[in-house]
Amino acid sequence: MGNNIRIGVSTCLLGEVVRYDGADAMDPYVSSVLGQFVELVPVCPEVEAGFGIPREPVQLEGDADSPHMVTVNTGKDLTSKMLSWTRRRVRELEKEGLWGFIFKSKSPSCGIERVKVHTERQTPVKKGRGLFARAFMEHFPLIPVEEESRLHDLRIRENFIERIFTLERWRRTVAKRKSLGSLIEFHTAQELLILSHSLPLYREIGKLVAAARGRKLSELYAGYQELLVKALRMNTTTRKHLNVLQHVLSKFKKKLTTEEKQELLETIEKYRKGDVPLLVPVTLLNHYTRKYEQSHLYRQLYLNPHPVELKLRNHA
Ligand code: SF4
Repeated sequence: MGNNIRIGVSTCLLGEVVRYDGADAMDPYVSSVLGQFVELVPVCPEVEAGFGIPREPVQLEGDADSPHMVTVNTGKDLTSKMLSWTRRRVRELEKEGLWGFIFKSKSPSCGIERVKVHTERQTPVKKGRGLFARAFMEHFPLIPVEEESRLHDLRIRENFIERIFTLERWRRTVAKRKSLGSLIEFHTAQELLILSHSLPLYREIGKLVAAARGRKLSELYAGYQELLVKALRMNTTTRKHLNVLQHVLSKFKKKLTTEEKQELLETIEKYRKGDVPLLVPVTLLNHYTRKYEQSHLYRQLYLNPHPVELKLRNHA
C-alpha cells in the first residue's frame, strides 16, 4: 500500500542544504517516516530557478494577492525570474504523477499561507502565499497540499495522508474502463471513510450512486469526484469517528457475545473520553468483523485506510 504514491516536497525538508544560508530544514517525519511509504519528489524553487546557494534571502513585497519577490538587502526584484520558472516547472510536474505536496512553511517561495508580505506599513502582514506554492495550487487544484509545520498537528496529518491515499485509489478507479460496477465497487469500500468526514456529503454521494443507473458515465464520475474531494477536505473529528464506530457496531452487534459487546462499548467510550486512540476501537472492530465474517464491513477502507506503521490513528 502506498509504494506507488509520489508526493512532492520542498527539498530543504529532506535535509538537503539548499536554504539561502546554506542550511537545511529537515523534517524527520516527512523525510524518515513518510519517506518509507511513499516516493518523495523534491523541488527547491529558489535553487532550481538559479538563485544559488548561499544566496541573499528574498521576501514578498506589495499586494498580498500578487506580491513581488525582492531580495532583502539589495532590493533586487526577482519576480519575473521566479514566475517564468514556476510556469515551466508546474507543467513539467504534470509528468511526475504527484498525489500530494508538502511545502516548507513561511517561505516566500514555498509557504501555503500566512507568509509575511512587506507593505508600506511598518509591520509585514501575514497574508501571503509563496510564489511557487500559489502556482502549484492553481495548476493542480485537486492535489492535496500541506505545510510541514501543520503536519505536526496529528489530526491534520491524518486527514492529509488519508486524502492522498483515498484519491490515489480513486484515480486508479478512473484509470480503469469506466463502468457503473466499478464506481459502485469503489464507493462501497470508501463509504464509512466518507462518513467519517461528512454525514451530509455521505448522504449526497449515496443518493448520487443510488440514482446512477441510466446516467452518462462521464457525468456520473465527474459528479462523484466533486463530492468525494469536497468530503475529504472536511476534517474528521472525534464525534464523527464515534458516529462511524457506532454505525459499524450496529451492523453486527447481535452476533457478539454479551462480553464482546461490553468490551467494544467500553473501548468506544474510552475513545470518546480521550483515554485511548482511535486505533484501539478500530482494531477491535476489525477483529470482530473478521471473526464473524462480516465481509461487507472488513472490506471497508475506514478500518484500514493507510499503513498502520504511519501511526496516524495512535493519538488520543
Ligand atoms: S523553502 Fe523552498 S525555496 Fe526555500 S530552501 Fe526550502 S525548498 Fe528551497
